[in-house]
Amino acid sequence: RAKSAGSGLASYDPEMLTGLIQRLELEADLRLALERDELLLHYQPTIDLADNRVVGFEALVRWQHPTRGLIEPMQFIPMAEATGLIAQVGRWVITEACRQAAAWNAEGAEPVTMAVNVSVRQFDRTDLASEIAEQLTASGLPADRLCLEMTESVLMTDTEENLAQLIRLKALGVRLAIDDFGTGYSSLAYLRRFPVDTLKIDRSFVERLGEQADDAALAETIVQLGESLGMSTVAEGVEEYGQLAALREMGCNEAQGFYFSHPVPADEAHRLLLEGAAA
Ligand code: C2E
Ligand code: CA
Ligand code: CA
Ligand code: CA
Repeated sequence: RAKSAGSGLASYDPEMLTGLIQRLELEADLRLALERDELLLHYQPTIDLADNRVVGFEALVRWQHPTRGLIEPMQFIPMAEATGLIAQVGRWVITEACRQAAAWNAEGAEPVTMAVNVSVRQFDRTDLASEIAEQLTASGLPADRLCLEMTESVLMTDTEENLAQLIRLKALGVRLAIDDFGTGYSSLAYLRRFPVDTLKIDRSFVERLGEQADDAALAETIVQLGESLGMSTVAEGVEEYGQLAALREMGCNEAQGFYFSHPVPADEAHRLLLEGAAA
C-alpha cells in the first residue's frame, strides 16, 4: 500500500501502527516479566463426579503487570507463541506448577493431579520430554501426578515428530489430555495412535447442556468415545447444577467450572483442597 518508496509508513493506518507499538511494548515487557518474576498461577479445581471430591487442579497463568494490572493469558499467550517467548513462559509454568503440587501432596492428604497447559509451539521449540523429566526430578512430583493438556493441533501438525515426543512423555509416566476436545479436526484414526489418557470436553458443548437435545448428544458422544478408547473424560466450563447432573448421568468422570470454583490463587486453592469438596 506504500505510495512511493520512503513514504511507505505514512500510508499505513495510524491505528495499526499504535497497535503494533503496543504489541512490541508488551513483548519487551514480557521478557522483563520473566526476569522480574511477575507471572503467577491461579488454580482451578477438578472434581470427581462420582464423589464430589477435589482430585486435581488446572494451573492457569496470569501476569501481574507493574502498570497494567493483572493480565489474562489470552492477552499475552498468543504473543508469547508468536515470538517464541512461550518456551520460557512454559518452562516457568511447569516449574511452578510441579513445585506447588509436590508441596500440597507432601502434606499427606489424597494426592492431587496438576494439569498444565502446553502450547503446540513448545513442541517444536523445546525438547519437552527432557525438560519435564528434569522438572519432575527437581520437584519430587511423581510423574503420574502431572497432566499435560494440549489441543488437537498437536495431533494434526508435525504429526510424526509430535507423536515421538508424546511417546517419550508417556514413557516418563505423565498423563496426557486433549484440551477443548471436539473443536478441532482430529480424526478417530489420529486419536487411536496417540497415547492420550483424557479428553477434556470443550466448554461449548457443556454450555447448552439441558437446553437442546443436540448439544447433549455431542457431549454424550465424546464421553462414549472416551469410554470406548479407554480414556477418561473431563467436562470444562460447568456453571450450573443442571449441566453437572446431565454430565454425571452420561458417565463423564470429572468436571471443572465456575459452579465449583473460579481459578483462584494458591492459598485459596489450598483451602478448597483441605475442605475436600468444592461444592
Ligand atoms: P483453557 O485451557 O481452555 O482454560 C479454561 C479457561 O476457561 C480459563 O480461562 C478458565 O478461567 C475459564 N473457565 C473455567 N471455568 C469456566 C466456566 O465455568 N465458565 C467460563 N465461561 N469459563 C471458565 P483463562 O484462565 O483466562 O485461560 C484462557 C486460556 O489461556 C486457557 O484456556 C489456555 O488455552 C490458555 N492458558 C492459560 N494458562 C496457560 C499456560 O500456562 N500455558 C499456555 N500455553 N496456555 C495457557
Ligand atoms: Ca486447559
Ligand atoms: Ca477450553
Ligand atoms: Ca484452550
